[in-house]
Formats: sequence, C-alpha cells, structure tokens
Amino acid sequence: MPKKTIKILGAGLSGLTAGINLAKAGYTVEIYEKRADSGARFHGDLQGLENWSEKVDVLDDLRTMNIDVSFDYTPFSEFFGIDGGKTRPFKFYEAIFYVVKRGSMEGSIDQSLKNQTLKLGVKIKYNQTVSPTDVDIVATGPITKAVVGAAKGIVFETTHLDIAIGIADTSVANGGYAYLLITKGYGCLFSAVCGDLSNINDCFDETKKIITKTLSLDIKNPRNVGGVACFATHNKYREGEKLFVGEAAGLQDLLFGFGMRHAIKSGYIAAQSIIKNQNYEKNIEKYFFKKRRAGIVNRYLWEKTLNSRTYFFLFHNLLSKKFLFSFYNFNLIQRMLYPLALKYVKNTHSLQDLQLKNS
Ligand SMILES: Cc1cc2nc3c(=O)[nH]c(=O)nc-3n(C[C@H](O)[C@H](O)[C@H](O)COP(=O)(O)OP(=O)(O)OC[C@H]3O[C@@H](n4cnc5c(N)ncnc54)[C@H](O)[C@@H]3O)c2cc1C
Repeated sequence: MPKKTIKILGAGLSGLTAGINLAKAGYTVEIYEKRADSGARFHGDLQGLENWSEKVDVLDDLRTMNIDVSFDYTPFSEFFGIDGGKTRPFKFYEAIFYVVKRGSMEGSIDQSLKNQTLKLGVKIKYNQTVSPTDVDIVATGPITKAVVGAAKGIVFETTHLDIAIGIADTSVANGGYAYLLITKGYGCLFSAVCGDLSNINDCFDETKKIITKTLSLDIKNPRNVGGVACFATHNKYREGEKLFVGEAAGLQDLLFGFGMRHAIKSGYIAAQSIIKNQNYEKNIEKYFFKKRRAGIVNRYLWEKTLNSRTYFFLFHNLLSKKFLFSFYNFNLIQRMLYPLALKYVKNTHSLQDLQLKNS
C-alpha cells in the first residue's frame, strides 16, 4: 500500500529533519515555508550547537539521525567568561560546542539540511503557507504569543582570531547573557535578554563597550541581526493527529536558549514515531522529560538563588562535560528544587500552558 503523503509546516531545522527521515523511509513529503528560503529567519548569525546535553558527540548524534554533517562548523573546547570586569578562561578536554552559521547562505546548517531534503525528492514550497489544521507536523519555530526573550546583535568581518566569549552581567543582558563568537574572520556579537525586554538597546551598547575594552577587535561591515525566543514550562506535542516539533512545541533550553539540538531531535523523533506507528507524545516526553525540568531549575537558579559569579565558580571548579551533562539532565539537587522552580518561573515569566496560548 502506498504510504500517506506527510505535510509539514515550516522548513527550519525541525521540519527539515522530519522531512529527511520520512523521505528516507519512503514517504512522500511536502513542506510549506512562509519565507523565501530555509534559514531566512536568520541573517548569518553564528550559533552554538551544544555538545553537553548528551554523552554522544552532537555531530555523531546528527549522523545517527540521518543528517550529513555537510555544513561549516568550528569546534570550541575553550571559551572565556567575563564577569564583573574579570576575564576567565574555561577549558574542556573536548569540543563543548560547535559554532555554525544560520541563514540562507552557502555553508549554513539551514542550507545543508535543505539540500539534503531536496535531494531526497521532497517538495519544499517556499513563500507558501497553509493552515496548521491541514498539516501532519507543525514546525513553525517560536510561538510569538509566548515570547519571553529577545536578542540584538551584529555580524561583521574581522581579522581577529577565532574566539568565544560569554558575559554574565545584568548591564549587558538582564536575565540573560551576552556573547561574542568569531570563526574564520567572521564575528557575531549579541546581547540576549530574558524577561524585561525594554532595555535591550542599552544592553547591547554596554556589551559592545565591554568587549571593545577587553580585546582589540576590528569590526568591518557590521550588519544588525536579532531574534526572539519563547520558553515554555508546559509543552504541546500533539493536537489531534497533528504533531508539534522544535520551538513550535516549546522545546528550547530554558536557561540560555539553546534550541538547535532540541529542534533536530524532535523532528527526528516525530518522523520515527510516524514511521514506526508509535506514540509521539510518549517518545518525545521520554527524551525531553529530564532536560525540560533541568532547564526550569537552571533558570530559577540563574535568576534567583545563584548569581552569575556563583555559576562561574561552579563551572570553573567542576568543569567537565560530565558536570554539564548532569546539569542538563535533572540531577538530584534539581529534582529537589523543581516544585519551587516551576512555581517561580511560571509566575515570573507568565509562562502558561501552550495549549491555552495556542487556542
Ligand atoms: C538570536 C538567536 C540566537 C540563538 N542562538 C542559539 C544558539 O547559539 N544555539 C542554539 O542551539 N540555539 C540558538 N537559538 C535557538 C535556535 O535558533 C532555535 O531554537 C531553532 O532554530 C529552532 O528550530 P525550529 O525548527 O523549531 O524553528 P526554525 O528553525 O525557526 O524554523 C521554523 C520555520 O518555520 C517557518 N514558518 C513559521 N511560521 C510558518 C507558517 N505559518 N507557515 C509556513 N512556514 C512557517 C519559519 O519561516 C522558519 O523557516 C537562537 C535563537 C535566536 C533567535
């Protein structure tokens, strides 16, 4: 019997991953994308593909999800943290994240996934949308009604060597953090704010001041970039037969907004659940149960109990991928703090059940 045609809304990381896996399993797949190209939500931003929430290296993890690592990436096993005027190096024994490019340009992770999807015969209908009620998988990215974070920044050319810097200080990002990433003569400077978004411009100006005071950085041809994040304490994975993946399902690290690995993994799990005729909600919750809860406690600790300096101390002294893994996988301390953290995060960020937000 011919397999059903699967319709996907959104040709971003989660939708394309689902498309690749379904096409490989013999399904006819159609993807509708409201923008002119995959990655067009971004403009050449550099982002970190985190390599700590699983024991397996993230690039190997992608390969097991049928994704060719045919995009440009730079591994970082060292980054610098700036806190209260002090700069400290953080060194790991292996890559702790891989910097990738986001956007519609050659070499970006978005274009790589798009090309892999097209090669499998999937039809991607750009500049077209349909009602979410007419699709099998919703992969539309951030739920704008649930935005709690925003980022403002620039991308630029530079002669500076590769470097990664994080800044934790309320003056550069209330509730969030600021960062500088440079790879192969291309840089990205961002302030990512969480909660009160009104002073984002001041935060970014302060970020620039701190960075230019800390290192001698030439910035050529800067372009403004930015975006939003929506964090959810209660995720929506299904509505009738329709499956939600990536940020559309509220899947994003609640502490720092890392969402690429979540998006790809959820697209893969959705495809496998369809292929194997399994319960998607059960499969996705099994994978994300601990990570989502750990994220809620981490955000609570970040904002309430610990401050950035304590985090710096912890990271500096217990620094290993093993420590970070436990920190992202609901360890014993996080389990004890969870009820308190959930209450706090819900109240502070007015995060509600996405079922309500979407209805
Ligand atoms: C400034 C910024 C920095 C970030 N930094 C990092 C980082 O360093 N590391 C990390 O892991 N994550 C980071 N993230 C988060 C990460 O980019 C996202 O979590 C990830 O891209 C989500 O993938 P997705 O498939 O859910 O959505 P997307 O990749 O956004 O794809 C959704 C697609 O759906 C399309 N779409 C939306 N609505 C419709 C519609 N109605 N019809 C048709 N198409 C539609 C969109 O145009 C888009 O192409 C960052 C996000 C921002 C904004």
